[in-house]
Amino acid sequence: MKSLAILGSTGSIGVSTLEIVAAHPERFRVAALTAGRNLTLLEQQVRAFRPELVAVPDTVDAERLRARLGAGAPRILSGRDGLISCAADSGARMVVSAIVGAAGLEPTLAAIEAGIDVALANKETLVAAGEVVMAAVARHGIHLFPVDSEHSAIFQSLAGHRKDDVRRLILTASGGPFRDRSAAELELVAPAEALAHPTWNMGQKITIDSATMMNKGLEVIEARWLFDLPPDKIAVHIHPESIVHSMVEYVDGAVIAQLGIPDMKTPIALALSWPERLALDLPPLDLCRLGRLHFREPDDVRFPCLALAYRALRSGGTAPAVLNAANEVAVEAFLDSRLGFAAIPRVIAAVLDRQAAGPADTLAAVLAADAAARLTARTLIATEFGGSR
Ligand code: NAD
Ligand code: MG
Repeated sequence: MKSLAILGSTGSIGVSTLEIVAAHPERFRVAALTAGRNLTLLEQQVRAFRPELVAVPDTVDAERLRARLGAGAPRILSGRDGLISCAADSGARMVVSAIVGAAGLEPTLAAIEAGIDVALANKETLVAAGEVVMAAVARHGIHLFPVDSEHSAIFQSLAGHRKDDVRRLILTASGGPFRDRSAAELELVAPAEALAHPTWNMGQKITIDSATMMNKGLEVIEARWLFDLPPDKIAVHIHPESIVHSMVEYVDGAVIAQLGIPDMKTPIALALSWPERLALDLPPLDLCRLGRLHFREPDDVRFPCLALAYRALRSGGTAPAVLNAANEVAVEAFLDSRLGFAAIPRVIAAVLDRQAAGPADTLAAVLAADAAARLTARTLIATEFGGSR
């Protein structure tokens, strides 16, 4: 019986994780749950899964949740410390890191520091603080399992092979809902359209990131840290069907890929149960019915975010943390209709131009770079770039 602490349990990944837990009660138990604001769903989850520890960011929300749950309420914590306690002190054998954004960094690091294995969905953690996180993983000898479908595919495609024999990783990208729009059309994209993703059903922030291609940029940086390969050994192919989840090309020309229908339960389940596989009740992949799969090069002119991510990765140090923070602020402004879609990469590029990269070997340095980048991005959106729709 493996006990889990699920951070971000009310989100898309959190809910899928709990569905897997519910389908395999003989394998998993929930020790802790944390969520942001959706108290109604969190209350249902607490009643169904009976964790010993729960945390929400807001103290008033914690009080309200306690009142709703009454006598059967578990320990309910709040704030940053509550979140960190759920990550590190619940007694869980694995933490599922599924908060969105850099807010997931400190709890994920706390889990690693406590010697707990992590199933990592929260890619922003590795983007912002890859050096610090991977050093902690090595120091504590924990397993860090990728949940992101591309990285899970690469993890599977690397199994049984020597890293020295890898020529390159090929991450696939759906290209998002606007892959065929012109640059002029991209200027006019509204939040509601951007939130309708063609193949994956995900949280709002990652859905926008997929539409701008920043999601793939973040994933290139995530891959750099997870698999310890330089940026020139990480390529991206647009693959609209999202069936080939990613590939590894070896020096002898062999390419190993992992395929499947686009459903996050497959990579989540593998992270929970590796090296075993859990039986999942998903429709099978029917390649004959699909008939064809398509691949093409990404377009850096219409979608500059991917190139910005490579630029930040090559600059190194705090540059990826700056990129990530500027992106979070820009995406939020876009969702609020304070910033145009095509201005998202412009804001990020301007923040990267203004903030020199420094060393990113401590959590404090990363958090300081993140905070400075957020401030610059907010100022730029309120002045030069805002009101562009
Ligand atoms: P989501 O928005 O659906 O859920 C996010 C969860 O985090 C929710 O439970 C929310 O309440 C909580 N949360 C948000 N802000 C918080 C804060 N400041 N403090 C505490 N809790 C907070 O997001 P998602 O789509 O489930 O994605 C989660 C992470 O997984 C992201 O990093 C995303 O990039 C990654 N990911 C998601 C998918 C997917 O299919 N959804 C695929 C690959 C990777
Ligand atoms: Mg992905």
